[in-house]
Amino acid sequence: MRQCLTSDLGGYYTTTAPSETDQFGAKGDFVTSPEISQIFGELIGLWVVAEWIAQGRKSEGVYLMEMGPGRGTLMDDMLRTIRNFPPFAKAIEAVFLVEASRNLRLAQHKLLCGGNPLLENEIGHESTSKHSKDLKIIWTEDIRFVPREASKTPFIIAHEFFDALPIHVFQSVPPAPPPSQQQQQDSTIQTPTGPIPSPRRIPKTNGWRELVVSPKPPHKLKADEPEFELTMAKAATPHSMYLPEISPRYQALKATDGATIEISPESQAYTLDFAIRIGGSNPALPNQPSPPTATTHAPHRPVSSASKAQPFTKPRPSGAALIIDYGPASTIPANSLRGIKAHSRVSPFLSPGTTDVSADVDFLALAEAAVNGSPGVEVHGPVSQGRFLGAMGIRERAGQLVGRAGEVDREVVERVESGWRRLVDLGPQGMGGLYQVMAFVPLRPVGEGEVRRRPVGFGGDVKA
Ligand code: SAH
Repeated sequence: MRQCLTSDLGGYYTTTAPSETDQFGAKGDFVTSPEISQIFGELIGLWVVAEWIAQGRKSEGVYLMEMGPGRGTLMDDMLRTIRNFPPFAKAIEAVFLVEASRNLRLAQHKLLCGGNPLLENEIGHESTSKHSKDLKIIWTEDIRFVPREASKTPFIIAHEFFDALPIHVFQSVPPAPPPSQQQQQDSTIQTPTGPIPSPRRIPKTNGWRELVVSPKPPHKLKADEPEFELTMAKAATPHSMYLPEISPRYQALKATDGATIEISPESQAYTLDFAIRIGGSNPALPNQPSPPTATTHAPHRPVSSASKAQPFTKPRPSGAALIIDYGPASTIPANSLRGIKAHSRVSPFLSPGTTDVSADVDFLALAEAAVNGSPGVEVHGPVSQGRFLGAMGIRERAGQLVGRAGEVDREVVERVESGWRRLVDLGPQGMGGLYQVMAFVPLRPVGEGEVRRRPVGFGGDVKA
């Protein structure tokens, strides 16, 4: 997945071949929520403002961070909304965009910064917002390059980012039958002092085998069909020996023949990083993994201190992360690796590098990585996108936009109407139900008789 999506040599997102169109929109391969309706980004901007209010309105040191911003539309809509809240807008020290694709970085720069120059800096590139020369927009290829400081308050958004990060797939297989007498004799080792039985231990319980991408054997290869397929590794792989053992959720399925699980260690490393930035690192886990780089290794660039596995203490947790993506709310994804081309689902192995490849996001795995990794965060959700946007006031905002366009602009009215309904559609294939929203916020211990605070969109209200 990593090679297909972000390889320097013709990755789906990173290919530098000049092209008229990008991956998004009617002419591209898929349409994302911010491209469907401006209300999506506006409500996420409002969510961040509400969280900032709930956390005591810090007057400085706010980082706005977005992972994989695509065309930059979501951040543009957020920033426009945030401008209506000057004390918050003033508190934002910088906007950090984590983006692996050069072409998309250029598109984001054009949208967010207009004609302001794009300059190289220590961690990637930077420019200033088209709205304010005091607001720096900074691009980097990996979250590890974003400075991590206890005094900062990061608000981190990841929309349709985790579905693009690589997964490993494992299947539970029953133990091999006990060897026959003949086989036992065959495996005897002859030594100068006489035969000794082979020390090979035969497992008695189910084990995990990794499903790997392999070239199809020539006799199976048909014209116009992908050259690759998923096959089961013949023996244990380094990943199958430890990844399925890291969580009791996976262990619980080990004894079930044929059970398939998908694990994205890179996604878990990212959410661990989010959690540490918000709540500090867990002193009980001294050797925390750091997320691997997306495409290029940039050893000359400074990497934030905690990624060198040093403890990061944050006496006063602050900030939040909002993750929006598709995937099951609580179960472990299985068989979800898919290819998308021109708005249709295709084999993920069809023309690597020109097909979008993605997989369902395992929300609980991300939550688990966060709470295990930081003693200072709590997780809310996942809730369905339909419910979240409903609670954030999508209907009311659409009504406002429709009212403004009025009778004069029927086209706008229709676009707003169909857009917001599409985002909250709870039908079987509707975005409102397929997409989930989950938040990490600073942990607030609940005293006796107290009720846990809930962020807006997750059952809470704004107390202005
Ligand atoms: N959030 C946007 C775009 C989603 S597509 C939207 O909703 O419209 C995925 C985005 O993540 C693209 O911008 C892609 O270039 C970026 N991306 C994919 N893999 C990445 C990686 N490993 N590191 C950094 N960015 C990545």
